[in-house]
Amino acid sequence: MPVINRIAEFHADMTAWRHDIHAHPELAYEEHRTADLVAAKLEEFGIAVHRGLGGTGVVGTLKGRGEGDRAIGLRADMDALPMPEANGFAHASTTPGKMHACGHDGHTTMLLGAARYLAETRNFDGTVHFIFQPAEEGKAGARAMIEQGLFQTFPMERVFGMHNWPDLPPGTMAVHPGPVMAAADQFTITVEGRGSHAAMPHLGVDPVLVAAHIVTAAQSLVSRGTDPQDAAVVSVTWVQAGTTFNVIPNEALLHGTIRTFRPETRARIHEQFARLASSVAQGFGATARVEIRPGYPPTVNAEAEATIAAEVAARVVGAANVTWNPPPSMGAEDFGYMLHEKPGAYVWLGQGGSALGCTLHNPHYDFNDEMLPVGASYWATLVETVLPRS
Ligand SMILES: [Zn+2]
Ligand SMILES: [Zn+2]
Repeated sequence: MPVINRIAEFHADMTAWRHDIHAHPELAYEEHRTADLVAAKLEEFGIAVHRGLGGTGVVGTLKGRGEGDRAIGLRADMDALPMPEANGFAHASTTPGKMHACGHDGHTTMLLGAARYLAETRNFDGTVHFIFQPAEEGKAGARAMIEQGLFQTFPMERVFGMHNWPDLPPGTMAVHPGPVMAAADQFTITVEGRGSHAAMPHLGVDPVLVAAHIVTAAQSLVSRGTDPQDAAVVSVTWVQAGTTFNVIPNEALLHGTIRTFRPETRARIHEQFARLASSVAQGFGATARVEIRPGYPPTVNAEAEATIAAEVAARVVGAANVTWNPPPSMGAEDFGYMLHEKPGAYVWLGQGGSALGCTLHNPHYDFNDEMLPVGASYWATLVETVLPRS
C-alpha cells in the first residue's frame, strides 16, 4: 500500500499550505502566524485545539471511532532559521534574514495533512495528539512544552517524530533502533596569561600559544580517549584573542561544540576536557577555565517503537525503500527531550536534492513537495497501526 489515496487527493492543498508557511518564516518562540494557521486548520478539520504550551506551541487532540484510553503523540516543528534565503521562486521567504531551511514548513504541513485525513476517517481506537512545537533550532521548544506540562495535560504512552533527510533519495525512509542524533554541548575556554610587548615575550605569558596547544591537545579527547566504535566529535570553531600585531594579549578564548551519543562518553569528555585544558595551561604558567553548557540530549529511539515505525514505513514506501539502522547523525534534535520522557521513534524521510546543494540549513534548500503525501500517509498509517480498531 503506497500513499493513501485520500491524502493524495489533497496534495495540492498541502502544497499551498507549505508554500504559505515557507513564504512567512518565523524564528523560535515567534511562530505566531504559523501557530494561527495550524490552529485554524485543525479547527476546520473538527479537531480540539489547545494553544500556548511552550509559548507558541499548538496541540490538536482527536479521538478515534473506537473506545479505548490509549493515546499517542505525533510531533512536528514550526520554526525557521535566522539566515537569508537564496531561492528566487514564488514561495521564497518574504522576510529578509529568515528562512525555512530545515524543512519545518514541510513537517508542519505533513502533520496537518495527516490530521485532516484522520479527522475524516477516525479509523482508530483511542486518542491522537498532534504536537506542533516551537523553537527546535537551538532553543529547546520541546523541553519548554514538556516543562509546561505537555505529558500531564495530554497523557500519552508513546511519541513519534519525523525529519526530512536530503541525503536519502526521495520516497525512501530510514529508521534507527537506537541513537539517531547526537547530544550537542557548547564550551568556552578562557585562557588567562599575562600580556606584554610582542618583542619581549619572555616578560609575559602568551595566552595565544597556550590556546593553540589546547586546540591541538583537545583532538586527543576523541582520537585517543574515546572507543573508536563510539562516535564523538570535539570541534573548536571560534578563537578570540588580541587586538593588534605587536601586543601579546592577556587572554584568549576558545569556543566550540562537543557531540556524543552515550551519557558516559559525554560525561567523560566534559571532565577530561576541563582537566586537559587547565593542565596544558598550567604547564605554560597560565590558567584555563573551562565552561561547558549542556545542550540537547541524544535522540534515542526505543527499539519496539522503531520496529513498528519501520513496518509502517515499509507499507507506505515499500520494504526495499526503508533503511534499517544506518549510521546516526552527529547533528542534534530537541525531540530527544520527548524521547527521554516517552518511548517512541524519530524517522528520516528521504528528500533527495543534497547533490544540488539542497542540504539542511543551506540557503538554496527547499522542502520537496512530492514528499508531502508520503509523510502524511506515514503518520496516518502509523496511527491506524499503533491504535487499531478493536
Ligand atoms: Zn535544522
Ligand atoms: Zn530541523
